[in-house]
Amino acid sequence: MSRTKVTLIPGDGIGPEVAKAATRVLDAAGAEIDWEPQIAGAEALKQGEKDPLPEHVLESILRNKVALKGPIETKIGGGFKSINVRLRQELDLYANLRPSRSLPSIKSRFENVDIVVVRENTEGLYSGIEHEVVPGVMESLKIITEKASTRIAEFAFDYAKRHGRKKVTAVHKANIMKLSDGLFLSCFRKVAERYPEIQAEDKIVDNMCMQLVMYPEKADVLVLENLYGDIVSDLCAGLVGGLGVVPGANLGTHASIFEAVHGTAPDIAGQDLANPLAIIRSGIMMLYHLHKDEEAERVRRALRKVVVEKGIKTRDLGGEASTTQFTDAIVHELEVDAKTGPQLPE
Ligand code: NAD
Repeated sequence: MSRTKVTLIPGDGIGPEVAKAATRVLDAAGAEIDWEPQIAGAEALKQGEKDPLPEHVLESILRNKVALKGPIETKIGGGFKSINVRLRQELDLYANLRPSRSLPSIKSRFENVDIVVVRENTEGLYSGIEHEVVPGVMESLKIITEKASTRIAEFAFDYAKRHGRKKVTAVHKANIMKLSDGLFLSCFRKVAERYPEIQAEDKIVDNMCMQLVMYPEKADVLVLENLYGDIVSDLCAGLVGGLGVVPGANLGTHASIFEAVHGTAPDIAGQDLANPLAIIRSGIMMLYHLHKDEEAERVRRALRKVVVEKGIKTRDLGGEASTTQFTDAIVHELEVDAKTGPQLPE
């Protein structure tokens, strides 16, 4: 198998700890990746860059077409524009894919959850168009276009078709935002006509949130504009064990960035406490994207062995393992797997 270059952005807070765990695991799985480290965010400014998202970081991602990224901090109510939002907008990573599945042995209040959140990643209230109208009055503009709404609906239905899913639900607030969310919904309905084999439905976002916590097993693929997608994907993470376990991918035509749903977790940063499962599972999504299916399966088997069979978990999941101990256990299983071959039926 040929070697593949992948841009690695460790990020802030727990980012470097979990990114290191992920690269150790993917390397031990024989993924044959040459990592190209790039610094973005506050750390880039500390190192003397003028822009927290330096041009060479974007060039590296466009050259390699694939990146694995840790979380990057965004200051609340001030500071530079979110690097995460800029990366998604500048590279046109229009689809944010966040699968939340119940995992055996990871306790949560619910069972049999298997929800895929497809979030529009480039516009909505994240367009960043805000201004002061007069002192005491601020305005944020929510941009919804026919092009982006159609594209994300097509992505959701294509995903559903390729992965044998039965239903796609558009989540909106078109009863109040009749023009913007109305356009999102009408694009969804038009696209749905081209996929008669997949059930299409729509729900108002507040009702959807209630349905998700009452009957999560009924949800399948959800497609949402940017802000609803952000909020609902954290909600879905909570259904299956929390932010420490849910992976994600930002997919575009020219590049893709794989990253966990969680943020920099400043409360536990630098303490070897972070759960690296979410970024490792983002790494599995990346391996499938790179057509390294065998290596992806190897990592899945190792995770299953460590988490399900041996019950080794980090503190957020009720275990006692540190980030390093948890990672060591997975790397050990991968080494055993390399010597003896698969020990578990998948
Ligand atoms: P957060 O996800 O960082 O943390 C929320 C809670 O979940 C905290 O209690 C934290 O300890 C816990 N948590 C998160 N990830 C965990 C993990 N892997 N293991 C164990 N526990 C984990 O959310 P926040 O506190 O709202 O945001 C902190 C910073 O992260 C902010 O600056 C925010 O802008 C940024 N952020 C970045 C991204 C990204 O880079 N994609 C995503 C979300 C938030």
